[in-house]
Order: sequence, then C-alpha cells, then structure tokens
Amino acid sequence: MNNNENLACRVCGLIQCEEPWGEDGKIPNYAICACCGTEFGYEDYTKESVLIQRKKWLDAGGGWWELKDKPNNWNINEQLKNIPIDYK
Ligand SMILES: [Zn+2]
Repeated sequence: MNNNENLACRVCGLIQCEEPWGEDGKIPNYAICACCGTEFGYEDYTKESVLIQRKKWLDAGGGWWELKDKPNNWNINEQLKNIPIDYK
C-alpha cells in the first residue's frame, strides 16, 4: 500500500490526517470520517461492510458529516479514486 491508501477513508476516499487503520493497516483509531461519517474500526471493518456503508452514504446523497470541513472545490469523483484498491 502507498501512503495515500493508508490515509484514505476506505468508504469515501477522503484523505485523513492520521492513518484510520494505523501504519500497518491493522489497528483502527476509531476516529470519525468528516466526509462519510464512518467510524474507523466499525463500519469499515471488512470489505463487505465498507461496500454497504458506501452504498448507504451514496444513496443518502454522498454528503459531508462535518459540513464545515467540506472544501469549496470538493469533487466527489476525485475523492472516490483514493479508496484503497482492496476496498473498491
Ligand atoms: Zn469517509
């Protein structure tokens, strides 16, 4: 995995300040993704749960959990490209 993959939310691809699953991708930090609202370690525990959570998020409009953190030039399609390959 490259660094970006370690830093990206498995559900929505938002790059986080800290690796959601630690440097080795095994120990979640239980932070909340500002974009999709996923709690790392719960909804993103398996590929199956990631896909379910992503569908829920997209079906709800693909919005931001923390609206104040949403960049003005936010592009959902660009962000989705960051999703780690194992969770696409
Ligand atoms: Zn997310």
